[in-house]
Amino acid sequence: MRSLSLRTKLTVTIIVIGIIVAGINFYQITQVDQIDKAADALAQEGRATEAIHQAADQIRLMFIVMTVGVTLAAVIIGIFLMTSISRSLARIRRGAIRIANGDFSAPITIETHDELGQLGQSFNAMADRLRDSYKRLAVEQQRDEAILQNMGEGLIATDELGNILLINHVAMRYIGLENLDAAVGKPIHETFQLYGPNDKDKKPIPKKERPVFRALETGKTVNDVYAFHAADGKKILMDTTATPILLNDKVVGAISVMRDVTKEKEIDRMKTEFISLASHQLRTPLSAIKWFTEMLISGDAGKLTDEQQEFAKNIDDSTTRMIALVNALLNISRIESGRIMIDPKPTDLRELVSGIVNDLKAKTEERKQTLIISVHDELPMINLDPRLIGQVYLNLLTNAIKYTQEGGEVSVFISRKDDQIISQVTDNGYGIPKDQQSRIFQKFFRAANAVKVETDGTGLGLYLIKSVVESSGGKIWFESEEGKGTTFWFSIPLSGMKAKEGEVTLDV
Ligand code: ADP
Repeated sequence: MRSLSLRTKLTVTIIVIGIIVAGINFYQITQVDQIDKAADALAQEGRATEAIHQAADQIRLMFIVMTVGVTLAAVIIGIFLMTSISRSLARIRRGAIRIANGDFSAPITIETHDELGQLGQSFNAMADRLRDSYKRLAVEQQRDEAILQNMGEGLIATDELGNILLINHVAMRYIGLENLDAAVGKPIHETFQLYGPNDKDKKPIPKKERPVFRALETGKTVNDVYAFHAADGKKILMDTTATPILLNDKVVGAISVMRDVTKEKEIDRMKTEFISLASHQLRTPLSAIKWFTEMLISGDAGKLTDEQQEFAKNIDDSTTRMIALVNALLNISRIESGRIMIDPKPTDLRELVSGIVNDLKAKTEERKQTLIISVHDELPMINLDPRLIGQVYLNLLTNAIKYTQEGGEVSVFISRKDDQIISQVTDNGYGIPKDQQSRIFQKFFRAANAVKVETDGTGLGLYLIKSVVESSGGKIWFESEEGKGTTFWFSIPLSGMKAKEGEVTLDV
């Protein structure tokens, strides 16, 4: 009872008193009926009972009036209290609706200090907190919106079906869209088309191969360069990264970030073209120098003194190195420009590797090294471009021989694992220092220990073969410990390489 309000207590008390009074009255009325019955009995005996009946009627009337009066009073007071409660409740309801609609301007006013008053105050406190949260959210939303709109990259967020949820101004400018309504809610593949980055890629990329749909399907980040045609017809190259949005391990959408790399790619192309041209132009005079030096060494221009022989030999060695460098640069420019052709034919890997090992025999004999080949017995013929894959084995084996001390051991293992052919080239040579291993596939990088022991090297071989392996659908990796040796592995799909048209092939 202590926790009930005054109004409730009052209502309950009135109702209880009303019931008690009505009950007593009802009981008294039945008692009066007994008096009536007693009077009737006396009347049958011929006694006068008029006065008793009159008195009983009066008492009955009095009780009836009292019963009706008390009941009426209870009802009136009840109605009054109910009206007052429902008025307060209506105020709270209106206030709650206002709050639900986000209108926090007027508080709920209930002046009583009972539960309804407390409920009103709780609503007001809740509204205050909600207003503060809304304000904070609005500020955060504005800040996120500003970040989104002012970032240098284009951004598009889509749902799990590829419908655009959000797009920033940069992305709209790239696509050539004037207003958001033209994009938001629409499927991304119907909003704009994507093309391959090369000029000859004239057909739009099919829906399922677009980065967003690949990210949605695989749940993995996809990054590539694509082209699309801006509103003014200009071709823009976009470095696009589509990342899946995961919620409880389920892909619920994707975010694409696009960066205009048209200028970068153009500069890259010009650089590659320049290297290609310069290397090409350098090759002719270098070949002439080498040719004439060899003539001098072989005595075609008369016998040389010992000192002249030594100088001519030096010129020859340097020219050989320079020609190797020019060839490596030319090969790289060919790979980077995408002009290289891939011409796969059924290839026996054992035969290919044996041929390369044979060519390297003179070197291993000179360095007193053992070279072992082991090829999986049931290796089928694989559809490969022997020139390209031969270059990979040649580079790995040349390195293994070059970076292994005299008397060391080099081995090649070729095996099959699931749908991949794995080739392994192992040596027990100088190894690669741990702190330089992450840079080993970078252009021109040579590890410090290798530079010390072997001056002959360009740092271009691994970079080149990584591109070859990856463009064949494979991977290349290694493990090495300084002073103990190195193992390189590369994989090629059993299905082989895909043919590709091109103008040039590698210079071996
Ligand atoms: P290059 O051999 O012409 O220097 P590569 O690109 O073929 O260029 O190799 C890059 C560098 O990787 C080498 O300079 C050397 O430091 C390291 N390297 C490659 N293969 C081996 C190996 N088998 N053992 C030790 N170091 C190696």
